[in-house]
Amino acid sequence: GAVCASLLAARGVAVTLFDSGRGPGGRMAQRREVMDDGTELRFDHGAPYFTVSNDEVVRVVGGWEARGLVAEWKAMFACFDRETGKFRDFDKEGTMKKYVGVPGMNSICKSLCQEDGVVSKFGVTIGKMDWLQDRSSWSLASLDGKDLGSFDFVVATDKNIASQKVSGLTGKPPPLDLSVFPHLSAMIQDIPVRPCFALMLAFSEPLAMVPVQGFSFYNSDSLSWAFCDSSKPGRHVPPNSQSWVLRSTTEYASKVIDSMGPRKPSADALAKVAEELFREFQATGLNIPQPIFMKAHRW
Ligand SMILES: Cc1cc2nc3c(=O)[nH]c(=O)nc-3n(C[C@H](O)[C@H](O)[C@H](O)COP(=O)(O)OP(=O)(O)OC[C@H]3O[C@@H](n4cnc5c(N)ncnc54)[C@H](O)[C@@H]3O)c2cc1C
Repeated sequence: GAVCASLLAARGVAVTLFDSGRGPGGRMAQRREVMDDGTELRFDHGAPYFTVSNDEVVRVVGGWEARGLVAEWKAMFACFDRETGKFRDFDKEGTMKKYVGVPGMNSICKSLCQEDGVVSKFGVTIGKMDWLQDRSSWSLASLDGKDLGSFDFVVATDKNIASQKVSGLTGKPPPLDLSVFPHLSAMIQDIPVRPCFALMLAFSEPLAMVPVQGFSFYNSDSLSWAFCDSSKPGRHVPPNSQSWVLRSTTEYASKVIDSMGPRKPSADALAKVAEELFREFQATGLNIPQPIFMKAHRW
């Protein structure tokens, strides 16, 4: 979404960006946590990195690299077989250059949202999007009913704008009434939704039995990936500690979310998820110590 906004602005379009989040990042956000002793921790709890194959995107990312917004993450990846307890397929996932935002994944969006021609408004949730036929424009209103103005075009980057599931959270109909746009309805249905949980972990010592910075899980019902966040370039890491972000399988997340219903997970529910995912991590036999910080997040 931020790339779209900045590319349009670079071509002279006046862009207004609304985001319900407190700051830029979305699914590329970085989470800041403060431990009881005041130590600050940061986690890329969404997208851990990205690769580029399209030439046009290579050029855009090259520009970000020159500006210091992204850097290559020279990480070795592998696959861990939960049944045999062994790593295999070293670097199978690592053949393409891996990029990360510096000092966090959100730095890319942060910079793009401040570019000339982009007016960014955070903490604003779009509650209503109406197409005004007589004025050929969109009228937007916030969830609390404030008029946000009229716009020639709207780019939406979240399927939730037309999802009935939103009503379970807001108690209001979704912002976009799809009955007015039947062709959009089918297109939106085709966009897959893959829920997952991220588990943020910090350890006071490195995981000595893990020889790689990222690995996928084979034969695990609940874990799909693990990334050593503190091994990325430009990260601020407390001395001697190592931080990891684990990602659940979609199947595990769907089962938990189905049992919770369409509401925000409670702190207790997230703590239970964190315990379950951490137990699975320890069951790998990789000598995983007790973490000094552990928290789950639902995506
Ligand atoms: C755990 C995880 C792992 C991932 N791994 C990778 C990876 O390895 N490689 C890769 O390339 N990609 C990965 N992705 C996907 C990548 O993060 C997304 O494709 C990308 O960030 C999407 O950007 P976007 O701007 O389209 O949407 P988003 O980043 O989701 O931004 C949409 C924004 O809209 C806001 N919003 C929603 N509804 C409203 C509303 N009604 N009003 C106002 N604002 C609203 C949201 O708060 C959000 O900030 C991963 C994502 C996740 C969650």
